[in-house]
Amino acid sequence: MSTAAGIPFLDLITPHEDLQEELCGVFRDALGSAGFIGGPMVEDFERDFATYCEARYCVGVSSGTDALTLSLIAAGVEPGAIVVTVPNTFIATCEAISQAGARPDFVDVDERTSNMDTEKLRDYLERDCFFDPRRRKLIKRRTGMPVSAIVPVHLYGQMADMDVILELAERYGLVVIEDACQAHGAEYYSQREGCWKKAGSMGMASAFSFYPGKNLGACGEAGAITTNQEELARKVRMLRDHGQSKKYHHEIEGYNSRLDAIQAGILQVKLRRLPLWTEQRRAIASRYREGLEFVSHAVGLPDEPAWARPVHHLYVVRVGDRSEFMNHMALENIGTGIHYPIPLHLQKAYAHMGFRNGQFPVSEKLAQEIVSLPMYPQLAAARQEEVIGQVLAFVADRDPLYNRMVPLAMAAAR
Ligand SMILES: *Cc1c(COP(=O)(O)O)cnc(C)c1O
Repeated sequence: MSTAAGIPFLDLITPHEDLQEELCGVFRDALGSAGFIGGPMVEDFERDFATYCEARYCVGVSSGTDALTLSLIAAGVEPGAIVVTVPNTFIATCEAISQAGARPDFVDVDERTSNMDTEKLRDYLERDCFFDPRRRKLIKRRTGMPVSAIVPVHLYGQMADMDVILELAERYGLVVIEDACQAHGAEYYSQREGCWKKAGSMGMASAFSFYPGKNLGACGEAGAITTNQEELARKVRMLRDHGQSKKYHHEIEGYNSRLDAIQAGILQVKLRRLPLWTEQRRAIASRYREGLEFVSHAVGLPDEPAWARPVHHLYVVRVGDRSEFMNHMALENIGTGIHYPIPLHLQKAYAHMGFRNGQFPVSEKLAQEIVSLPMYPQLAAARQEEVIGQVLAFVADRDPLYNRMVPLAMAAAR
């Protein structure tokens, strides 16, 4: 039996219906003052988003990709230098590195968290590189190029193991730029600092995306950089606005990468709902765990270390026969997705860099098995039960034993 109306993978209509009056008010205010670029709407949002992230400064820009690019440039990553990230991320992480003039390189991820494997990062920095005392730089042995930054990605809304990453970065004099594009409000328990830290407050700078489907989404393109360093914030402010410190005084050559005032106003309205939406995402994640834990040998659930308080941008499970699983869900009108089907080192766009299949086995294996289930604050509990029911039905179909176990466990979960 199929679920009549269907359950979409993502619902971007309902939240905007609920906020329609307030959002239209933003548009009317902007029309009334002709304040389309810069001005109080942008400044107010920057101030409140910095507070939300527990960072000192926030600079609004036109996308998450630009937030990464401008952060890397402002942090002084030199042309041709290596910037280390992970292969299982959205291509924007890598595009930003190349477009900032640097060269992307990868370390594999931890199979449990899908985030940067800090042991592999350590191996990369200790074994594949050496410290050149004359240049006072870490140099990659095979290419002779300097390594200058690390970009950990807080994938699916869960932070990477930042203490270890920051410690290694300090030891080797590397810059850390967080890709927090999926992690608005995520937290990490820092042993070093003895407290919970927000995404966007730990690296030298951090990049956020407000692409409509993100946890905090604009009604169009938008992004932001957070940082605790005044000088970096000042540099990014110039870079986003043609390198000018004041009108027509260009200290450097920059970009047209400003945040629209209307988008800032919209983000300000939605930022007030973000804590509630995050709570709703967490409730959905707990229901998935409760409903699916007893079949977790067949449907792998995301790992949540004790030091992580994720914001569940995506709920990603692992299944061996993924295409059959996705077909099953599609037949029941339930939307699913893959984030992401091809690791970056195997993308055509990076063929010239000479990476091989087999070089990052964990990312490659995950790419074959991961599937994202519906996850958004407006996903009602009853609809989610239908999703869980269909995941269980899929497992039961494949294993007759579960025909007896499933109803029992479902009853127990109620
Ligand atoms: C969305 C996203 C980006 C890019 O953000 P845009 O606003 O689309 O440019 C970068 N990195 C990650 C991990 C993302 O999810």
